[in-house]
Amino acid sequence: MSNDHHSEGPRRVGQVKEVTSLSNPIVKDIKALSNKKDREQSGTFMAEGLKLVIDALELGWAIRTLVYAKAAKGKPLVEQVAARTVAKGGLVLEVSEKVLSSITRRDNPQMVVGIFEQRWTPLEDLRPSQGMTYVALDRVRDPGNLGTIIRTADAAGASGVILVGECTDPFSLETVRATMGSVFAVPLARATTEEFFAWQKRSGAQVVATHLAGAVDYRTVNYEKKPTVLLMGNEQSGLPEALAKSADRLVRIPQQGRADSLNLAVATAVMLFEARRHLLKLEDAG
Ligand code: SAM
Repeated sequence: MSNDHHSEGPRRVGQVKEVTSLSNPIVKDIKALSNKKDREQSGTFMAEGLKLVIDALELGWAIRTLVYAKAAKGKPLVEQVAARTVAKGGLVLEVSEKVLSSITRRDNPQMVVGIFEQRWTPLEDLRPSQGMTYVALDRVRDPGNLGTIIRTADAAGASGVILVGECTDPFSLETVRATMGSVFAVPLARATTEEFFAWQKRSGAQVVATHLAGAVDYRTVNYEKKPTVLLMGNEQSGLPEALAKSADRLVRIPQQGRADSLNLAVATAVMLFEARRHLLKLEDAG
C-alpha cells in the first residue's frame, strides 16, 4: 500500500489507482466513450454492473479498465474481479461516487463499471446450420430497440445479429444497458447491403423478411427445414425493396386495431419465438 496522500490526481495503491477528480485524464477518456467516434477509435465500450462484468469475464471478453466506487472496496466479488483485471493487464480505478455518476451519467450509478474491448464477428464466420436462427436488421436506428433485440435474440437462442447498413452502435451505453448483458452473449456482425446479399447467397439459409405488405402469414412458414435469417426493416421506412425482393419469403404478422405496425423490437420478438418455437422447451430454461 502506498502512503502517498499528498499528490493530486491518480494515486497508486498497489495495482489500484484512486481517482476523485473529474478532470483526471483517464476519467476523461472513459467519459469520452459516450461518443461513437471515441468508442470506435479506442475499440472499447462501457458496461455497468458487477454481475455483467463478471459474466463478460466468464465469457472471455477482454477488460481494459475496471472502475468501482469506494463503497464497493473490500467486497469479495469486487476484489476478485479487480484481481482478474490486473492479472489480464487491465487497469483498476477506485473512484468517488461523483466520478462514477459522471462516467455513467446517472445519479445513482452502479458500483462497478467495466471498459471492454469491442468484439465484432466477421460476417463470413457466421455459418448457419440446422436449428440456427439469425436476425438481420436493416438500418436499425433506435438504441433501445437494438438492445432489446439483442437481449431477445439471446433469450430465444438465436446465433447472431447482423447489422445491415448504417445502424445505431450496439456498443453505446444505452444499447448495452438495454441488452442486460446479452451483448456479451450474442455474436454481432455488420455488413453493407451488398455484403449481406453475397453472404445470404452462400449461407444456405432461408431469409424470411418481414414487411407490412407481406402476403404470407408468418405462422405458415416452415422454420424447421433450413436455418433461418429473420430480416427486419428500419423503424421509419421499413425494408427497402431490394432487401425485400432478395428474401425467400415476405411475411406479415396479422394485426387488428388501429396501430399501423408493431414496434421493431416487438415484431422481432414475435418472429424469433415463432421461428424457434419447435426448439424452445421449458426444460431448457436456465
Ligand atoms: N412505416 C414502416 C413501414 O411502412 O414498413 C413501419 C416499420 S415497423 C415500425 C419496423 C419493422 O418491424 C418493419 O420493417 C417490419 O420488419 C417489422 N414489423 C412491424 N410490424 C409488422 C407486421 N405487422 N408484420 C410484419 N413485420 C412487421
